[in-house]
Formats: sequence, structure tokens, C-alpha cells
Amino acid sequence: MYEVAVIGGGVAGATFAKRFAKEGHKVVVLERKTEKSYKPCAGYINYAARELEPIDKRVIERVADIGKLYSYTGAELKLNLNKYPGALVYPSEYHQYLRDLAADAGAEIRYSSEVKKVEFKEKHVVLQVGTESVKAKYCVGAFGMNSMLMKFFGKTLPPHIYMFQYEFQLPSKLVEERFGNAVEFYFDSRYTGYGYTWVFPKKNGVTVGTYALQLNKEVITKLNNFVFKHERMKERMRGAQPKKFEKRYIFAGIVPTEVLPELYGKRYVLVGEAGGLTDPLSYHGIYNSIRSARLAATFLSEALTLEKPDKLKEYSDTVLSEIYHADIEFGTKIAKTLYGHELADKLADAVIKLAKTDEELREALTTMLHHKSARHAPLGVLKKKKSKILKRFGIVEAMKLSKQFL
Ligand SMILES: Cc1cc2nc3c(=O)[nH]c(=O)nc-3n(C[C@H](O)[C@H](O)[C@H](O)COP(=O)(O)OP(=O)(O)OC[C@H]3O[C@@H](n4cnc5c(N)ncnc54)[C@H](O)[C@@H]3O)c2cc1C
Repeated sequence: MYEVAVIGGGVAGATFAKRFAKEGHKVVVLERKTEKSYKPCAGYINYAARELEPIDKRVIERVADIGKLYSYTGAELKLNLNKYPGALVYPSEYHQYLRDLAADAGAEIRYSSEVKKVEFKEKHVVLQVGTESVKAKYCVGAFGMNSMLMKFFGKTLPPHIYMFQYEFQLPSKLVEERFGNAVEFYFDSRYTGYGYTWVFPKKNGVTVGTYALQLNKEVITKLNNFVFKHERMKERMRGAQPKKFEKRYIFAGIVPTEVLPELYGKRYVLVGEAGGLTDPLSYHGIYNSIRSARLAATFLSEALTLEKPDKLKEYSDTVLSEIYHADIEFGTKIAKTLYGHELADKLADAVIKLAKTDEELREALTTMLHHKSARHAPLGVLKKKKSKILKRFGIVEAMKLSKQFL
């Protein structure tokens, strides 16, 4: 019997397994896909995540030391990430790298091992993989957004948002000349389904994508218009070839927008996206997947060595206080202010233009990208700048926005 069986070998599952195996525990990771299979994700790893779990240079496609924000009027704001650069990776390779690290630390990784059923017994858990039953004292749910598995944990899929992306191939010289090391964010509803549209350069290509509240054709049209018709894109995309994965050019995925109220049960904990732990401002999840996985490794190790199953509740409480209440909750407020309302484009434009001359606001926006401080820091600055931002609007719009604001 294993001490822990992990369902899912993504960022959260692999990070958990590495740390847990390093502490001398017997752990197996059950991953439904094969080695190096495609993972739809744009691959921006912010500085905060890199700081927690440094990444080998071999996996890093590009170090992002500049952030660029664009509004619908074409206003551009450059943010210096030199001090806290992000890393751009191809997630399939990054996940494989994390799983290899876990294997080196002593974890057993099983590929093509889809868990179809989970049964909780009094003193152990039984996971059904094909015709085999895998037994473990505890189970870690690191399966991302999987509604089929959620039901075994007595949960339903949390509210979520859709993400659509293209990956293009482009010779490295052209990526260098046309995109450099900048991560670009466009706040323009003509090209954005919801929130923003992103452009992340890699060594030999660029990843471009956007969000939407629903799966529909309109968002694909917007994304296509962005890539091939947007003023800043059309020339730079000359010669770029869309990559095909699993017979598709455009990939969609979902990410949760709400954290589950509890991330534990009698014999399990949930980590990463399975617990709803994405950042609601960027809708990125790698940072919180790493954070929750590290906490889970600590608390499950204590649960086993001290024979204290109540450590599972302590894990859940700690995630809620350190990740949700200290960070995600504030990110939700910023996102509600900035996204999804009729004045969103104009507000982003006003913020970008003000930040050109307001150093404190610029710093706050920079912090949003590297995430070195929790979201309450930039939220505080946005609140402080509220009247300066609203002054850029007429009275009617300012009143509407005032209600929307934070
Ligand atoms: C298009 C897109 C772009 C994104 N861009 C970014 C970005 O730039 N930066 C960022 O930080 N985040 C980004 N995200 C979010 C990020 O990818 C996730 O938050 C992160 O991967 C969550 O990690 P996880 O380990 O919790 O889940 P996942 O990475 O989804 O891993 C779950 C694993 O579980 C496996 N699994 C599922 N069901 C089973 C089963 N029944 N049995 C066995 N295995 C199973 C899956 O195959 C998968 O490997 C993006 C997401 C999308 C969709």
C-alpha cells in the first residue's frame, strides 16, 4: 500500500510528489496521459512561482523581463520586470520536467493511468485504474478541472472561465526582432472574449490567446481578428505557422474562478485547480498550484508521521487563510473592477494612461505581473488612485464606474 496516491501529474501533482518523496514517503502519481503529451496552457510562470520552485534553464524558452499593456486606443505601457522576471515555458515540457524531478526524488510515476473511480474506506483509499485497484492511506486530488472525478470527492465543478489559444511557430530571429522578451496584454473587447488577450513569446514561436465566459464562435472570430488583423499583430505575425496538436489549431481549456469552500475530506486533500485555486486577476494557476502542493506535502507528511488525520483539515484551513483570504480574494476584487462591464475598455485605457506618469500605479501594475506581493498591495494602490482615474471620465460614466470600483 502507498502512503499517498496522487491523481494527476500536472504542476500541482508533480510538485507535491517531489516534495513528499523527498521526505522519504512512498508515493505514486497516476497520470492519464502519456509522457510529454500536450497541455493547453500559455506557459507564463510569474516570478513568485519561480522563486518557490526554481526552474532549470533547459526548460525555460524565454525570460520575460518586460511586460506591455495595451488599451483599445493603442496606448502602450511598458513595465519593467527586470528585478522580478517571469519564465516562459512550453507547459508540456515543463510538466514532464516536474514529473521527472518527482521521479528522481523517489516518486513512482505511472502514465496512461486514468483513475476512473475513487472509494474511500475507513483506513485507506482505493483508486480504480483500468482493471487494477491502487491502494493508499491517503489520496491527493491534483486532477485539475475534472467533473467526473469531482463527484467521488462529493464536490461539483466550480464556476469557470474558458481560455482559447493558438501556438505559432516562427524562426527565433524573427521572434527576437518582433516580440523580444515582452509578455503583452491587450485590454480591448474587440479582440478579447473576456478580461484580456495575451501574447507570450517563446524561443521559436509565440502563444496567443484570450478568455471567454462561454464557449462560442464569437470569441474565435475575435482571436482570429486579433492575430491576423490587429494593428500591432498583423505585420509581426507574417510567416508564423499555427501548430497543430491533436488535430486542432486552437485549443480551449477551462480554469476555475472560485475556490472550493473546503479542500479536504476524511482521506484526501485537493490541490491546484482541483481545489479551484487560480488567480482571478490573471486566471493563471501555476503559482497557486505550487503553493498548495507544497502545503499539502507538509501537512500530509505530518498526518502520516504523527498519525494525525486532522492535519488534512489544517491543510485546508491554511490554504484558505494564506492563499484565498490573503491573496485570491483581493484579486477577485481587482478583476471585478477591471473586467466584464461596459466601461472595461475605457477603464483600462485610463489606468494605462495614468500609469505612464504615476510611478506608484506603475509599480502596482508591475506587481500584478510578477505577483511578488499578494493582490492586496496593488488593490490598495488602485483604491488610492480611484479619484484620479475617475477624473478621466465624464460625470455619468464616473458615477457608473464608481459603483463598479473595488
Ligand atoms: C489556455 C490556457 C492557458 C493558461 N496559461 C497559463 C499561464 O500562462 N500561466 C499560468 O500560471 N497558468 C496558466 N493556465 C492555467 C494553468 O495551466 C493551470 O492553472 C495549471 O496547469 C493547474 O495545475 P494543476 O496541476 O492543478 O492541473 P493540471 O495542470 O490541469 O493537471 C491535472 C493533471 O491531471 C490529469 N488527470 C485529470 N484527470 C485524471 C484522471 N482521471 N486520472 C489520472 N490523471 C488525470 C491530467 O491529465 C493533468 O495532467 C492556463 C490554462 C489554460 C487552459
